[in-house]
Amino acid sequence: MTMTKNSLLAELIEGAPPSDGRFGPYGGRFVPETLMAVLQRLERKSIELLADSGFKAELKAEQRDFIGRPTALSPAPGLGERWGAEVYLKREDLCHTGAHKINNALGQALIAKRLGVSRIVAETGAGQHGVATAAAAARVGLPCTVYMGVIDARRQKPNLERMKLLGAKVILVETGDQTLRSAIDEAMRDWVSDPDGTYYLLGSVVGPHPYPWMVREFQSVIGHEARNQMIARGGGLPDVAVACVGGGSNAIGLFRGFVGDPEVELLGIEAGGRGGDGDPHSATLGKGSPGVLHGAMTPLLQDAHGQIEDTHSIAPGLDYPGVGPEHALLRDLGRARYESVTDDDALDALHECSSAEGILPALESSHALAGAKRWAASHPGARIVVGLSGRGDKDIQLLTGEVPHD
Ligand SMILES: *Cc1c(COP(=O)(O)O)cnc(C)c1O
Repeated sequence: MTMTKNSLLAELIEGAPPSDGRFGPYGGRFVPETLMAVLQRLERKSIELLADSGFKAELKAEQRDFIGRPTALSPAPGLGERWGAEVYLKREDLCHTGAHKINNALGQALIAKRLGVSRIVAETGAGQHGVATAAAAARVGLPCTVYMGVIDARRQKPNLERMKLLGAKVILVETGDQTLRSAIDEAMRDWVSDPDGTYYLLGSVVGPHPYPWMVREFQSVIGHEARNQMIARGGGLPDVAVACVGGGSNAIGLFRGFVGDPEVELLGIEAGGRGGDGDPHSATLGKGSPGVLHGAMTPLLQDAHGQIEDTHSIAPGLDYPGVGPEHALLRDLGRARYESVTDDDALDALHECSSAEGILPALESSHALAGAKRWAASHPGARIVVGLSGRGDKDIQLLTGEVPHD
């Protein structure tokens, strides 16, 4: 068993695409027959391109010219003083379109272009991934259709309008839970109807292989930059790297920079919701059990009959009942730990960061800040890098009560 654990961890650190599409017992490819061949082609193509020097040069140039990378690593002395720690923020809020999601959307859009498809489809929950995809599709010159639940569209009107302005066709989904889960179902249905001419641009490290691996590769730029910047600016590695976990893409991106440094603790923060006994939440790694959702085996929030449970978070981007398979393996191997913080903790952290640093973080990112603060309380003087996954401008209507939480 120990042997197996060590070799699984060594494999994970090395980071090659899993040949069986699995991260230990998690991941895989649970999809209709029609999608098998398409996923195999995408797997071959993405592995080939991500190792190709021409593609890598194009990606790097676009990360610089379109996204604005590298993003800053900001020392946060105001938070540091309050928490009794040395705090650094990895500023994905400074990415074009305001969050880390563009790192993945751009990378996949470049792959779609190379595959020669005629259109891109995507799902969106709060609209952040839809906006990033609409922008990336416009950048590479491909038309784009985004599926969005009607409830989300009502809650996130500015993002709906942003997508349209960026040239995307937005289809409102009135079936199922009318939020992210049914938007994914509908986007997949669209894709199945023309798998060769359509590219499905998935928004996090979830879904069937090769998505969890490929999306992670595009997000790992966060961690690689952060590691170099910590050494150059912060005088050495941090004691802990902290990030929020919805599907898990910004967290895995940050963690990739440090996974091979055993002295750096990896801490993922899930959404604990209101925090009362029996209240809905989105703490999949903390409280879920394995099952199949959206093409992969992964921890899920489900009842005894395998029905997906209602989730809740004040942060729309964390409100998802599944999680990336690689996180589940990192947890099982003891390499990363996952905790949750409540809506109220996240709100406090949002206000604290805004006033102490002059940086308004997204509600999602505020979960990472709240988790980092709690960790700091038992590690005085420690060096902490926090993944600031996005900016909070998108949350202003939620914060002022102009639109209801859910
Ligand atoms: C979507 C989103 C998240 C959650 O997605 P992950 O895949 O877990 O990273 C976190 N922060 C922001 C700002 C987001 O938009």
